[in-house]
Amino acid sequence: MGVCMERKGLLIVVSGFAGSGKGTMMKRLVEEYEGYALSVSMTTRKPRPGEVHGREYFFVTKEEFEQKIREGGLIEYAPYVENYYGTPREYVEKQMAAGKDVVLEIEIQGALKVKKRFPDSVLIFVLPPSVEELYRRLKNRGTETEDVIRKRMSRAAEEASMIGRYDYIVINDGVEESVRKLHSLIEAAHSSPGGNEEFIRGIRDGLEQLWKGEK
Ligand code: 5GP
Repeated sequence: MGVCMERKGLLIVVSGFAGSGKGTMMKRLVEEYEGYALSVSMTTRKPRPGEVHGREYFFVTKEEFEQKIREGGLIEYAPYVENYYGTPREYVEKQMAAGKDVVLEIEIQGALKVKKRFPDSVLIFVLPPSVEELYRRLKNRGTETEDVIRKRMSRAAEEASMIGRYDYIVINDGVEESVRKLHSLIEAAHSSPGGNEEFIRGIRDGLEQLWKGEK
């Protein structure tokens, strides 16, 4: 009467202000732990130096992006500081079906759309240890103009008011520790009753049979 269970893949949504260090955290998470798949988004933004098509993003034109929307090929998409960003559907569905936890590193509007469509998804917001540190990281990155940095900071201020809609926050004051925390939050999410309905049903049915058999 053993209940066999395959672990179901979860959709993990990670957001954070530009400069919060979430990108580095995501890379480390998939390097250090098994069972994760990192979704690669589609964007109309131009690649930054060192970024590779198909690795950081699929860099496309506005027309190509709009075509993908029309085909229903994106789980969600949103405008962000002069560009569009979206999550391709196919990869996410395939990886989840294979039992992987799929990590989406996306901004807040997209995150809330995902939560609405996939109520079992886990929303995690990464925060920098302080505002000063955030500004310093953005400036040090040196890839954006002062104007874009300003727009991104103002967007961060807007996003700050929505953090309460997330399931968890992680304060990134050191990559090792933050990645460990992130992983344990995801592990905990796997223990929710909602994510284990099949197993619970199996136990319940088993108990019922046992009870009937003994009567
Ligand atoms: P960046 O231009 O710095 O790479 O990304 C800008 C913002 O877009 C970040 O907050 C990032 O998380 C978000 N983003 C990246 N990919 C997606 C996506 O597929 N969908 C949504 N909604 N946001 C995304």
